[in-house]
Amino acid sequence: MPDIQRRKTGTVKIGQVRVGWEVPVVVQSMTNTDTADVTGTIEQVAALALAGSEIVRVTVNNEEAAAAVPHIVEGLEKRGLRVPIVGDFHYNGHLLLKKYPATARALAKYRINPGNASIGKKDNDNFQVMVECAAENQKPVRIGVNWGSLDQALLTRMMDENSKKPEPLPAREVMMEAMVVSAIESAKAAEHFGLGHDMIILSAKVSGVRDLIDVYTNLAARCDYPLHLGLTEAGMGSKGLIASTAGLAPLLLAGIGDTIRVSLTPKPGGDRTEEVQAAQQILQSLSIRSFMPQVTSCPGCGRTTSTYFQELAEQIQGYLRTSMPEWRRKYPGVEELKLAVMGCVVNGPGESKHANLGISLPGTFEEPKAPVYVDGKLYTTLRGDTIVAEFKQILDRYVESHYGQSAKGKELVGAR
Ligand code: SF4
Repeated sequence: MPDIQRRKTGTVKIGQVRVGWEVPVVVQSMTNTDTADVTGTIEQVAALALAGSEIVRVTVNNEEAAAAVPHIVEGLEKRGLRVPIVGDFHYNGHLLLKKYPATARALAKYRINPGNASIGKKDNDNFQVMVECAAENQKPVRIGVNWGSLDQALLTRMMDENSKKPEPLPAREVMMEAMVVSAIESAKAAEHFGLGHDMIILSAKVSGVRDLIDVYTNLAARCDYPLHLGLTEAGMGSKGLIASTAGLAPLLLAGIGDTIRVSLTPKPGGDRTEEVQAAQQILQSLSIRSFMPQVTSCPGCGRTTSTYFQELAEQIQGYLRTSMPEWRRKYPGVEELKLAVMGCVVNGPGESKHANLGISLPGTFEEPKAPVYVDGKLYTTLRGDTIVAEFKQILDRYVESHYGQSAKGKELVGAR
């Protein structure tokens, strides 16, 4: 598989995490708790971090939220979690950062939206104050343009200029160009106000997949700042997952994007960590990074007599997820493991042989037995009610023998 040629950028340090072309693409997420709720926010940041989010953003929208930030950071540190916390500012960031200097120090990065920071206007002290505060505290900044809050003065100017051209461009193209111009001009302004070139990350988020690909391709070609990639307001369920994947994948494969967030809308009371799992899965499906063992399972069809193999696939997936926090520590490299759980003899043995560990369950009219393959070879055949438990034991032995510190070889013993 050819290597992906990452677009060359500088490297920005966010707390202990580095973002840029020299380091792997970073996964990040955002809380949806009230930031003023210190306990609730600590709980959610901890859940996101334990799920694998390497940076977590919180909204800092009012004085209560700003006052809470240092306590959130302190509470996380007491739990041994040193995940960088980014403050998301809109409209009043300049006031909050000035009034709450401990918050300005506790945050690892500030996100500034140039569309609501008065940049270029007479009262542009909003943007300038935030940038100067970042420079003073040696904090990086993400200049995050969003088409839902694009700098209207800039857009109006560009639309006017376009309308005077002999052959005006379509409004969509002017809008995409305005996104790029807003990001780059804001970055230049931030440097003018004292922020280092290597302290700036850019994003230009839109909610349409084709628009996202166009705007980031254009932005990537016109600057060397690291890029934060994400489809804004991706949506719920499969729509959000598929649209995010469709938008991010072509860019990541083209080497564009240094940190990603998947902006899923959770179900009411849903699990916020799903957006972390989605971001990880996008990167792992593209062979960019590995986070957890992958299970290949067939969709099932009329050849399967029951939901048994679906249940097995689900149980194995759940077992991997609950085992990974410990396995990640004890078994370096285990995230590369490949498993197959298949429903019948048609593709079962073949697919199982391509995996490190595979099981082919019996389909309709097949003999009730489940051959297990280890590294492409038939290892044993399981029968009866204990197939799941025995398969998990084989999985545990494989992990220990291949990734454990005391592993003497790469052999599994006990095959029948
Ligand atoms: S492996 Fe067998 S059960 Fe699974 S989809 Fe293919 S034919 Fe159907």
